[in-house]
Amino acid sequence: MRLSNYFLPTTKENPAEAEIVSHRLMLRAGMVRQLSAGIYSWLPLGFKVLQKIEAIVREEQEKAGALAILMPTIQPADLWRESGRYDDYGAEMLRIKDRKDREMLYGPTNEEAVTDIFRGTVRSYKDLPKNLYHVQWKFRDEVRPRFGVMRGREFLMKDNYSFDLDKEGAIRSYNAMFVAYLRTFARLGLKAIPMAADTGPIGGDLSHEFIVLAETGESEVYYHKDFEALDPMIDVDYTKDLQPTIDQWTANYAATDEKHDANSDIDSADLITGRGIEVGHIFYFGTKYSDAMGATVQGPNDDTIAVEMGSYGIGVSRLVGAIIEASHDDKGIVWPESVAPFKVGIINIRADDDACVEAADTLYKQMEEAGVEALYDDRADRAGVKFSTMELIGLPWFITIGPRGVKNNLVELVNRKTGEKVEVSPEEALKRMIG
Ligand code: ATP
Ligand code: MG
Repeated sequence: MRLSNYFLPTTKENPAEAEIVSHRLMLRAGMVRQLSAGIYSWLPLGFKVLQKIEAIVREEQEKAGALAILMPTIQPADLWRESGRYDDYGAEMLRIKDRKDREMLYGPTNEEAVTDIFRGTVRSYKDLPKNLYHVQWKFRDEVRPRFGVMRGREFLMKDNYSFDLDKEGAIRSYNAMFVAYLRTFARLGLKAIPMAADTGPIGGDLSHEFIVLAETGESEVYYHKDFEALDPMIDVDYTKDLQPTIDQWTANYAATDEKHDANSDIDSADLITGRGIEVGHIFYFGTKYSDAMGATVQGPNDDTIAVEMGSYGIGVSRLVGAIIEASHDDKGIVWPESVAPFKVGIINIRADDDACVEAADTLYKQMEEAGVEALYDDRADRAGVKFSTMELIGLPWFITIGPRGVKNNLVELVNRKTGEKVEVSPEEALKRMIG
């Protein structure tokens, strides 16, 4: 992408309304723009990151056996009356009336909607287990929307729902999601601590939150001092019993509060208190919704069985902010390669020098042809402006092209994270970006 053709409305000034670094940097890097309190438009750079995160979330869901569907954002109030949650949900729910005066709502979550799909389509235990996921916008009229996309009112969530014949099967589904979450967050460059949690308004009796450590986080977390040394990119065979893996992660490394210490093997001397951001939350809640809404199947002995369910959420749009909180420096964002909007930035430091323009154009064209995502700053701006733009938007690599180097067939390749610089030929730079 040529920057002269792109839409990257960056700013030097710190926006006054932004209290935390990720919000500041997202606004300064021209990733999002607020339309109304807690409601954001995603501009090209931000949208690209959002889509990359979504793609990784989807891949790990598919590997764990979940099937993609898409449910609507608008739901009928009557469905929520069946589960009893229409009144319980309170002021966070955005309630709407259609032209026929029917009560509708903008979905804050989808347990009712998915249970309705299930009860209308699945008849026999032979069709179980099933795990359905979607990535869809949610609306929660938060009392205090803040921190940009981190606590929005409209936000993008991956949510999925498992259906099993019995509790044992439901725990298996829960465990698969637990491991899928560890893998998802690891691929996003994050260490997310799984923490036993309250089940809240979703209900049920087994639940974990996944917390990314950050000083500005809203959750308090207790964890083992060795936690950060763990490799979360665990290899997994979803057909095997995952319980031992999960026990290792929970009992040995994370605790919610003093109470949980009873179930935890962590010595209090090894316990660290920190703050973190909730990026995912999983629940096993048994037959809460299937009982209330009549989601049953015919069992092996011709009996009628209410299905055992679980639900699992990942805050896809919140993750954009959480990744920045976990990975930035005083110059700007430092994207992990897996979600970076472009892999490499190309800076021509002398836009008025024909040889430099030609060298930069050529390298850019070769990158495009090789399928390397490159953002080429071909503007007439001063070199300093180009450097600070690249540092702000945080691409993992950038390549600078200047008159001295061009004479000697050399460019400078800079690693955004380490600041390490090497002079290499343009061919070598290209090779490294492909590899
Ligand atoms: P929180 O405790 O942060 O309010 P929650 O427990 O209400 O979140 P869940 O119902 O568990 O949220 O939703 C699943 C995931 O959706 C959360 O783990 C979080 O990552 C994300 N999420 C929830 N509320 C918001 C929000 N207002 N803005 C952005 N993401 C959100
Ligand atoms: Mg939660």
